[in-house]
Amino acid sequence: MATNLIKQMKDRIAKSGSSKKEVLYFAPDSVKRVRFLQELDTGHMIEFHSDFDTHVYEMCKDPEDHENCKLCEEQVPILENYVWSVWDYDSNAVRLICTKATGISPIPALIEMFEEFGTITDRDYKIKKVGKGTGGSFVVTPLDKSTFRNSKAKPYTEKQVREILEKAFTSQANDDENDDEEEEEETVSKKSKKASKKAPKKKRSIRSKFEELDMDQLKEICLEVGMSRKEFKSFDNEEDVIEELFSTYEESDLEELLEGLDDDEDDDDEDDED
Ligand SMILES: [Zn+2]
Repeated sequence: MATNLIKQMKDRIAKSGSSKKEVLYFAPDSVKRVRFLQELDTGHMIEFHSDFDTHVYEMCKDPEDHENCKLCEEQVPILENYVWSVWDYDSNAVRLICTKATGISPIPALIEMFEEFGTITDRDYKIKKVGKGTGGSFVVTPLDKSTFRNSKAKPYTEKQVREILEKAFTSQANDDENDDEEEEEETVSKKSKKASKKAPKKKRSIRSKFEELDMDQLKEICLEVGMSRKEFKSFDNEEDVIEELFSTYEESDLEELLEGLDDDEDDDDEDDED
């Protein structure tokens, strides 16, 4: 049963959420060692529409003119995010650091480094997220200056960055109310099909559903969204995990993971009868 469940989750993730792995995730009290692949002042500023109440978190579709964008029309507030390509030593891959400039953000520290050294690409940095939620902060530690030799590691272009973020942050908050409108968009058509199939039974809050999961199930979800085992171990209990998941990920994504679990329980038309 358990392995089947994990397979279901993986399938779901492969279809929908895997792109989030390209965006570096900072678990509480975890350290990432990275090499910036571009200068602090050549990163990209990306505008996101962000509304906590309706769970909208999506890139603005028309950052130039703010005209051809549904969320602009609806006057959903805009949050500016800054994005850099980095080499992530944990995953040995190019990842994006995507962060706002104020509040809990490594950017103020990075600005200090840039002013100190005149560059942020001449050495590795350890970036540590301390604590979690609104009381968290980032500690940025510069390592010794060293040449970075890796011809594979190239920063993403702005177009690529936008594509990655588009996939990573597609909010489905309006699925229930605006099904018709949503279906006109190619990008969500697959999801709409899924959603309509399962529509009748998801009124219970996503959070309460998460609260029914045990630590093993939560662990699988955490590993799938890119957390390391070590990072997961830093959680004391289920409540801690749920708190972190809900403060980091959109409910729509968390819901997708849950739907994977639901599929497993209800539509179990395959060969395991145990
Ligand atoms: Zn917009």
